[in-house]
Amino acid sequence: MLSPIVEKFLQTLADAPTLAVAHERLALARELLEKMDRENARLQGEVAELQRELSLRVPREFAEHRGVLWKRLPAGGVAEDAYCPTHRLAMSNFAGELICTVKNCGYAAPFNSGNVQHVRSQIPQDA
Ligand SMILES: [Zn+2]
Repeated sequence: MLSPIVEKFLQTLADAPTLAVAHERLALARELLEKMDRENARLQGEVAELQRELSLRVPREFAEHRGVLWKRLPAGGVAEDAYCPTHRLAMSNFAGELICTVKNCGYAAPFNSGNVQHVRSQIPQDA
């Protein structure tokens, strides 16, 4: 029969390899988590950039001309109204100006409402 101190010592020696393996596995797990964090941050940045680029794109159902959007018609050509490039909603005629009435937008077309037909007629066919 070994003394309790010797038993404890032997147990500590027996545990040592297990602890070393556990430390190794923890270090490996930590390394993997750090790698995943870096990859996650990179991907989040990439998603944000792609979302920003996508928000700047003119949707296929619109043509962009003279600072506003024009809704394409299935048969060709565009609808009569000018659309806000940000909100993609028809702009309103207000005292001769075409403006977006969405709250806090107020975007004004760079031409007045009297020139809408003329501006629309200048939209390139491939726009
Ligand atoms: Zn707007």
